[in-house]
Amino acid sequence: MARIVVIEDNPANMELMVYLLQAFGHQPVPAVDGIDGLETVARERPDLVLCDIQLPRLDGREVARRLKQDPALGTIPLVAVTALAMLGDRARMLEAGFDGYLSKPIDPQRFVGQVEAFLPQASAGMSGSPP
Ligand code: MN
Repeated sequence: MARIVVIEDNPANMELMVYLLQAFGHQPVPAVDGIDGLETVARERPDLVLCDIQLPRLDGREVARRLKQDPALGTIPLVAVTALAMLGDRARMLEAGFDGYLSKPIDPQRFVGQVEAFLPQASAGMSGSPP
């Protein structure tokens, strides 16, 4: 079980990601724009962050820059979830601070497995043990 902050402004995408993560035993924490996302990550100290690129108030690239500049939060795996056209090339994505990306539209059959691949080992799959 992992705690995963999901920063996404589209209600249908948010609903799908929350549903799928919960179905596989994870604990999603939603945030609806970039500022909310930064505040939620700072408060929750999650195991992983999923982040849309096009977001109100603060876009995903700026969320990434700010998180990675923060020593306390910069080590949390940060994964962009976006249409490839929104992402730009891989070099720009990594430069912004993302550790990887998943492309929209979300594939319900594969999504959670793709997310778990970015988790630190202890939180992945069913092997996690309480602290
Ligand atoms: Mn968006």
